[in-house]
Amino acid sequence: MGGFGHQCSHRGLPSRIMRLGIDLDGVVANFNAGWIAFYNDEFGTAIPMDAVDSWDAIPGLTHFPSMGAFWRWAEHLNGASLFRHLDTFPGAVDTLWRLVKRGHEIVILTTKPHWAIHDTFAWISEQQLPTREVHILDDKWRIECDVYLDDAPHNVYRIHRQRPDRVVVRFVRPWNHPVPGTHDVETWDQFEALVSKLDG
Ligand SMILES: [Mg+2]
Repeated sequence: MGGFGHQCSHRGLPSRIMRLGIDLDGVVANFNAGWIAFYNDEFGTAIPMDAVDSWDAIPGLTHFPSMGAFWRWAEHLNGASLFRHLDTFPGAVDTLWRLVKRGHEIVILTTKPHWAIHDTFAWISEQQLPTREVHILDDKWRIECDVYLDDAPHNVYRIHRQRPDRVVVRFVRPWNHPVPGTHDVETWDQFEALVSKLDG
């Protein structure tokens, strides 16, 4: 008998196998700590790692007059783009592996500039994220998932609006805010507990 796919008869597996749509930056990848470390090193500044407290904070914290100028800088850092150099948040990768071993599918849904596509695939591989499916796109709601986890206020809002029957989860960060009808988690442990509650 096949032990893979959507059979749920094995002991210890949940009764409901779910597709979990997982964002990268601000959820799995510590984007802000990454750019701040490079920036402080290159320009001799001392921007605190937790300085970002709004979605559009970067021009106000740096000498870059626009996000366009920031991205031009972020494209070339140590032989790759910024996205190749990011650390993961504590618990993120371990939790994703436990969710996969529980039977769920990790679907990566991430928005990236075109010049970061190859670094994104390389980073996912280097970090050993347990995913068989990666989408690099703007409109994340187009990819059908049972649960969506994101930190971007506009993504949480849009996914919930387009797929009101699905579970949309905001990873609570200083740069986002509650969206009615969606769930909040503050840690990866809380996300794992939420999925466990849904899949029982
Ligand atoms: Mg994000």
